[in-house]
Amino acid sequence: MSTDPRATLPGRAGALLAELGDTAELHDLYDEAGAPVYHAIAGTSPLEVRELVAAARSTTGPVLELAAGSGRLTMPLLTLGREVTALELAPAMIRILEERLRTVPATRRSRCTVVAGDMSDFDLGREFGAIVLGATSVSLLDAAGRAGLYRCVRRHLAPGGRFLLTAVEVADFGTSTSEQVIEVDAPDGTGFRMYEHWTEGADVRTVTVFPHPLESAVPPITVCTTRIGVLPVARLEAELTDAGLVLTDRRPLPPTDHQHHDVLLVAEVAA
Ligand code: SAM
Repeated sequence: MSTDPRATLPGRAGALLAELGDTAELHDLYDEAGAPVYHAIAGTSPLEVRELVAAARSTTGPVLELAAGSGRLTMPLLTLGREVTALELAPAMIRILEERLRTVPATRRSRCTVVAGDMSDFDLGREFGAIVLGATSVSLLDAAGRAGLYRCVRRHLAPGGRFLLTAVEVADFGTSTSEQVIEVDAPDGTGFRMYEHWTEGADVRTVTVFPHPLESAVPPITVCTTRIGVLPVARLEAELTDAGLVLTDRRPLPPTDHQHHDVLLVAEVAA
């Protein structure tokens, strides 16, 4: 069986990639070529950022942000005037975050520590008043990874500290296998077309991003893909409880579309 990601890319995105043949290069969404694409499209959904920052504001002490990426949340978290530690796995994402930090006033920059690390296995040797995991990134981890994440979160939460995370319920695609197509215009005017493929019941969905319109893309055309777990919110809540975390709040976020229902969860270490 082929393990070539080009051969296994499902749906219309797979067909389109095959059509493009050698003119396209397939990348992971968070690698050297993918990170700028993620960064370009990540800033376009401000609702979740607003809710997470508001939830973090009601905590005290230093903030730890997990899977910080290129800083979509890190930068607004820094406006709270607190110390922020941003932990991220992908070097290319860290590079963009560090570039962004160089553009902010030194007083703000000095409150941010960037750490290369795996959110499912880290030891920072200190505690935080809030641990934030946005962009529904908990679903990037498999079950073992999530167990590690909960362990690390418990170990790093100060007494009374809160774990603030968002999760997504993937539903209502309408058919058993379907592909949602979303067009995104980045703030700099660059266009992208994002294909999200999911078979109902499958535990992963595949997101693939092409430049749009394709006709004006210059070869080699960068196509980026990532596989994201499908983690029902009820299962996530049960896992948090089993890991010794108590759910203290559960807030639906304003919908970005009718097929993804995001939820903000707040958890604390059980007494
Ligand atoms: N938080 C950022 C945001 O809101 O835009 C980035 C979210 S992006 C959907 C997911 C990020 O998680 C990527 O930057 C990816 O490199 C990172 N990531 C994936 N697995 C990780 C892990 N095990 N530990 C830390 N970061 C991870």
